[in-house]
Amino acid sequence: MTITSPEASVDAAERDLLERVPTGLFVGGRWTPSRSGGTLDVADPSTGRVLTTIASADPEDGLAALDAACAAADDWARTPPRRRAEILRRAWELLQERRDEFALLITLEMGKPLHEAQGEVTYGGEFLRWFSEEAVRITGRYGINPEGTGRTIVSHHPVGPCLLITPWNFPLAMATRKIAPALAAGCTVVVKPAELTPLTTLFFARVLEDAGVPAGVVNVIPTNSSKTVSAPIIAEPRLRKLSFTGSTEVGKVLLRQAAENVLRTSMELGGNAPFLVFEDADLDAAVEGALLAKFRNSGEACTAANRFLVQRSVVREFSDRVAARVEAMRVGRGTEQGVQVGPLIDARAVAKTSALVADAVSRGAEVRTGGDALPGEGTFFAPTVVTEVPADSDLFRTEIFGPVLSIVPFDDEDEAVRLANGTEYGLAAYVYTRDLARGQRMMEGLETGMLGLNAGVISNASAPFGGVKQSGLGREGGVEGIHEYLTTKYTMTPDPTI
Ligand code: ADP
Repeated sequence: MTITSPEASVDAAERDLLERVPTGLFVGGRWTPSRSGGTLDVADPSTGRVLTTIASADPEDGLAALDAACAAADDWARTPPRRRAEILRRAWELLQERRDEFALLITLEMGKPLHEAQGEVTYGGEFLRWFSEEAVRITGRYGINPEGTGRTIVSHHPVGPCLLITPWNFPLAMATRKIAPALAAGCTVVVKPAELTPLTTLFFARVLEDAGVPAGVVNVIPTNSSKTVSAPIIAEPRLRKLSFTGSTEVGKVLLRQAAENVLRTSMELGGNAPFLVFEDADLDAAVEGALLAKFRNSGEACTAANRFLVQRSVVREFSDRVAARVEAMRVGRGTEQGVQVGPLIDARAVAKTSALVADAVSRGAEVRTGGDALPGEGTFFAPTVVTEVPADSDLFRTEIFGPVLSIVPFDDEDEAVRLANGTEYGLAAYVYTRDLARGQRMMEGLETGMLGLNAGVISNASAPFGGVKQSGLGREGGVEGIHEYLTTKYTMTPDPTI
């Protein structure tokens, strides 16, 4: 009899899972190596060790994927909506059956704690279920023109082949949030997952295959040279839509490329979410909401609260309470029991976070807890609380994307709104107040695409996710989400009675 230690059995489970993740490109329903033989190593950010090596697409592979998406486009567009809905629903069911494997894979390649990865499987899966329900509700309208001389028919049609570029922070949800509405609308897609976390998308392509998605409808091309693979696809007139989630900087580059063919675009870009705590807030709820809005995903979310604006009369109590909670947080590899905060994605992220904290400190900010990278293997940064953060520091103006909670006091509502809106971003905002009228004023006054009113988590498949200002264009999820993948056609016909 062999007795295995818990660690050894966990490792065996990880190895077994990794052996079952496809390592090829998924093009036209076939798993293939890259034409040029290129490969890409995928590492575990909590150890720095390579998990597995997969094929890395070259520009020709990218164009072959577009060919496959174009070849499948007409049939898929003509597939009855009910059938498309059933396939998406089946994909949701299969994802539920494989949820533990997906959660582990997300944790391995991205680092988030296992319970958060489970949450991502639930959230990411909901896009499949939601859009399976929306697929059969693509409606139009019929009306009489004001003169009474004609009839107007408005109909919606799939936009055509799409390129979907996803980031590394939610490897499953960012893929399903784009793939599900595209497929529901009748579009075929080429998915280019982030090079740091491509495994979840490859594993998800298996789910789609098993659910009955026809060959060529979904193609997946991980690559270690995003720019050289994406640019020729975007330049191809047969591509009809680009959906991107990532940094504002890359989003602007892609918008310029998309301009050449006047491509339809959806852009989910950066954020700099303010988290406002007024003196009339339920402070217990505000502290809980703050911890969720900041430390979920190690702060690596575009909706993460980035600036905590707290009314001066409660700033001390709020700061003391969050600092005590953050100090007690357990940091470690996401697979370990009880871990609340995992590693950052890579060394670059750690260096950026360190530099932002150092800049704020040099301008007079006070570190209440944390403040540094953690020594040892992996790319860990201590959960941090910084107070007295000057509004002109980089920490206040930049999207941190790390576990740093920075607090700035304000005196009155006008100042709070001015500070909150004083950014080129406008993705998410959070407000804690018990005053209903104030809550309504915030809803109307804050320049944001999404608002958590006494809520620290806002994402939901049934709601339109997206930003204003430089945070992006378009909405994902909700009844709005499917329209990102539909065009509107208007037909005029004469009054049939004359
Ligand atoms: P982050 O800052 O979150 O890493 P990025 O904007 O750099 O976000 O990356 C998001 C996605 O965009 C990833 O899939 C990445 O590979 C891809 N990407 C980055 N640069 C380019 C580019 N020039 N062209 C196309 N895709 C790119």
